[in-house]
Amino acid sequence: MNNYFIILASGQSKRFNSNQLKQFITYKNKALFEHSLDKAMNSKLFKKIILVVNEKKQIKKKYSKDVVIIKGGKERSDSSLIALKYIKKFKPSNVLIHDAARPNFTIKLLKRLIKSLQTNKASIPVISSKDSIKYKVKNQLFNLDKKNSYLTQTPQAFKFKDIYNLSIKQKKIIQDEATLFINNNFKIKFINGEILNDKITFKEDINNIKTFFGIGFDIHRLVKDKKLYLGGIKIPFHSGLKGHSDGDVILHSVIDSLLGAMRKKDIGTFFPDNRNKFKNIRSPKMLKPIVDILNRSNFYINNLDINLICEQPKVSKYRNKIINSLSDLLNLDKDLINLKGKTVEKLGLIGKEKAIACEVICSISQ
Ligand code: ZN
Repeated sequence: MNNYFIILASGQSKRFNSNQLKQFITYKNKALFEHSLDKAMNSKLFKKIILVVNEKKQIKKKYSKDVVIIKGGKERSDSSLIALKYIKKFKPSNVLIHDAARPNFTIKLLKRLIKSLQTNKASIPVISSKDSIKYKVKNQLFNLDKKNSYLTQTPQAFKFKDIYNLSIKQKKIIQDEATLFINNNFKIKFINGEILNDKITFKEDINNIKTFFGIGFDIHRLVKDKKLYLGGIKIPFHSGLKGHSDGDVILHSVIDSLLGAMRKKDIGTFFPDNRNKFKNIRSPKMLKPIVDILNRSNFYINNLDINLICEQPKVSKYRNKIINSLSDLLNLDKDLINLKGKTVEKLGLIGKEKAIACEVICSISQ
């Protein structure tokens, strides 16, 4: 694994009508460039990730030591050359160059690109055009044959030696690195790109986001000789929650709040408690298909706020563990989950430690 990932985040956002630089605008809960950065880190495919920005002080957050932040140049091609020169000392085999404005590629695409470099010097993701493309020659318009026209995307993958040698010789401003190969009659392997790997160019791309809220509530009776599960983890306690499943009130409330926000009825519709199939089911298994629907429908969670209502166990003792577990199950940043403990002054069933209840509110966007 001698792969390096370069993220170009030093653009001037000329087509993006906003006071803020596009690559730093918040998109799906984080700065636009962070989507690419996080994905590259999570893929574990790269020795180093080079983030190229206008000013290093623009980046306030601390990242792992494999992430290097460097200052770019005036044009895109200047920035990529600066990054290529920077990584030369590491003797890379492969390098992927990516525009921060494309936050929606998948780790699968990264893997396919790197695999393709085993037999090719350059590998570029392309999709066929949905719209017909016209081009102009001496004031006359021509139609490009849609079947033979491709739209190129990033990341673009190269053997380091080849892209480096071409880049240092290049004097003109180029649109992307693939152009270097084309101009020099080098062979490029085109692989299938991803429809969702669109470039965020105009502010409408970001403003076109709809937000929904959902609420969930659940209560289960405490009984002896049962294990207690809360938020997907086992909690040491004298009793557990009675139910058709493991009785995890937190996960059940989370499920109902997500279904509520997606306007998809309730947990009982998905997991009827008269069905033997779901008897003693662990609640993470119930959450999984709901998270799948969320992802398939292009929703993402903005935040979760949880009230766990019980006298015992004390939430403060398990808060971090529960939040970590929820973060894993939902693939959601820990900072976006809040868990509060609430006692009821020893009143009623909950006060007498005969039941535990939970309520959740969530916000999701599409
Ligand atoms: Zn329940």
